Amino acid sequence: MDLKTLVNTYKDQIINTRRDLHQIPEIAYNEVKTSSYIVNYLQNEALDVQTGIAQHGVVGLLRTDPAGPTLLMRADMDALPLNEATGLAFSSTHDGMMHACGHDAHIAMVLGAVTVLNRLKDKFKGTLKFLFQPAEEGPGGALPMIESGVMQHPTVDYSVGCHVWPDVPEGCIGVKTGLLMAAMDRFDLKIIGRGGHGAMPHLCVDALEVGCQVVNALQRITSRQADPLNPTVVTVGQFQAGSNFNIIPDTAEMCGTTRTFDREIWNSWPQRLEQIISGVCQSMGAQYELNFSKGYPPLINDAFMADVVRDCAAEVVGQANVVEPAKTMGGEDMAYFLEQSQGCFFCLGVGKQDGVPIHNPRFDFNEDILLNGVETYCRIALQLLR
Ligand SMILES: [Zn+2]
Ligand SMILES: [Zn+2]
Repeated sequence: MDLKTLVNTYKDQIINTRRDLHQIPEIAYNEVKTSSYIVNYLQNEALDVQTGIAQHGVVGLLRTDPAGPTLLMRADMDALPLNEATGLAFSSTHDGMMHACGHDAHIAMVLGAVTVLNRLKDKFKGTLKFLFQPAEEGPGGALPMIESGVMQHPTVDYSVGCHVWPDVPEGCIGVKTGLLMAAMDRFDLKIIGRGGHGAMPHLCVDALEVGCQVVNALQRITSRQADPLNPTVVTVGQFQAGSNFNIIPDTAEMCGTTRTFDREIWNSWPQRLEQIISGVCQSMGAQYELNFSKGYPPLINDAFMADVVRDCAAEVVGQANVVEPAKTMGGEDMAYFLEQSQGCFFCLGVGKQDGVPIHNPRFDFNEDILLNGVETYCRIALQLLR
């Protein structure tokens, strides 16, 4: 039986796995049911299973020859704090939580690959390490898992993962050598002024007004400081201040994210933010507390691994349907695995159904594409562990 036919015999199982997981979405570092679902699955496949890594992380090992290389296949497990609005029969049963980033699909595809490759043990020599990580949506589960030693015993030579990708047409697979995704961070800022009566601004330091000036001034980094040919983003995503129409607020709080492809700019963010915030606050008589949390590094695909994935994807969807995706300022903690081994993160084309992107309460996709992901994973394993 050829590989495509073999994968296809598990179609219902793969789709049902995705649907089971879709109904029990759990947000970052709460992936209890998801983790135990995965552990059960791996134990049924008689894999060597490790649990509780970085809280709810799971690793399953399938080894045919200790002398052969080790390939890591990674899926993320967490969902988003969002009320599902798809109306699907297998919608979320957890109020206020939804798999709107397709991580249910990512798990189902790696588990599908477990089942198929477990039937093909005489076809590869080496170790397959199936890894399921918590908290991709932040604060990040990849780094804590790596710090717990998942790249050793045995040492990972290659790593691969994928994301459902609405910007790549349904049925296509996107592979890009080099930079694919940006470095991302988070900052939290509190402006401390002096509150008072709305009619007497001269007796106050208006934290809300200072905060507005800070939001505007931060945009200067992208518009005036950074090289326009080297893209950056500064987004303030949340701003809270005030309690009534006639009260000048004492404090204002905001948080946001910074993005860049460039490691030098990445390292300079805290100092760049501080310079602007301290300048604005000082000129207006306010104090501030800035907390900068460094996020994920830029995601860079290894050239050799991108070629392997491209060749395997061509066998699955045909040469004409293997495309080069555009870079994105989105971030992904898969980047850490790619820093530790030769690896590639590829884009599974799902297209945009009715123009709906990921992180939207109506996000859904054609489940047939799950087979493309499973078959690609299997071909990559069989190719690298020949
Ligand atoms: Zn996401
Ligand atoms: Zn995601």
